[in-house]
Amino acid sequence: MIKIQNLHKRFGNNEVLKGIDLEINHGEVVVVIGPSGSGKSTLLRCLNYLETPDKGILAINGFQVNAEKVHKQEIRNIRKSSAMVFQSYNLFKNKTALENITEALTTVKKMSKSEAETVGEALLTQVGLLEKRNQYPSCLSGGQQQRIGIARAMAVNPHVILFDEPTSALDPELVGEVLSVIRSLAEKHMTMIIVTHEMGFAREVADRVIFMDHGVVVEQGTPDEIFCTPKHERTQKFLKQII
Ligand code: ATP
Ligand code: MG
Repeated sequence: MIKIQNLHKRFGNNEVLKGIDLEINHGEVVVVIGPSGSGKSTLLRCLNYLETPDKGILAINGFQVNAEKVHKQEIRNIRKSSAMVFQSYNLFKNKTALENITEALTTVKKMSKSEAETVGEALLTQVGLLEKRNQYPSCLSGGQQQRIGIARAMAVNPHVILFDEPTSALDPELVGEVLSVIRSLAEKHMTMIIVTHEMGFAREVADRVIFMDHGVVVEQGTPDEIFCTPKHERTQKFLKQII
């Protein structure tokens, strides 16, 4: 269970999140859509404490942080509860595919090298890349790098995986393989929050779609409600532009 209450974030004079309230259930797949600059990435980054929110309460899997009076240990707990998958993969360039996945297992989870490799190989198999275990990122396609990025996120066994436009840096022919890995996680009821411009995919995979604009949640509902019968004028306008 994830609970976000009255989350605020500003950069200087730019108020980017203006009081976000959301509750996400275990196993739920939530897709976030909205115009550029509406605060989608900032929301994900605040959930993972890559950005420090100014105000609000975050609770993930029983761990809670009040942004106005935080303790270091609470931030560590919140960070460990989620894992990010970035648009630009952000793999360690000097580590092999397998090492990218095992890194957090040996350093954070304190597993032995061989234990970590067993877990890493199982994850590589899951994303269909076991044969690439010893390859460096520069020798892999964008789609393969992103599948490693997803395996790396899964490795720490997070309560939720946060995806920030995981396919938007990819050549069109490589999008499908990444979406199919995400789809397989959805089938296993992995809790996920996915920011994406792939509306067809959003419709198919989302339990709930959230439309954000100017730092607020304007509207949310099932994919049918948002894509077929959007209630708010801003949602209608956004969907008209992109479909
Ligand atoms: P996009 O669809 O283009 O990725 P987004 O919805 O993810 O957009 P954000 O990246 O969350 O939008 O940005 C929201 C606003 O916050 C923008 O006005 C952006 O310029 C600003 N912003 C984001 N990160 C920073 C930062 N580190 N410093 C200053 N301003 C920032
Ligand atoms: Mg963004």
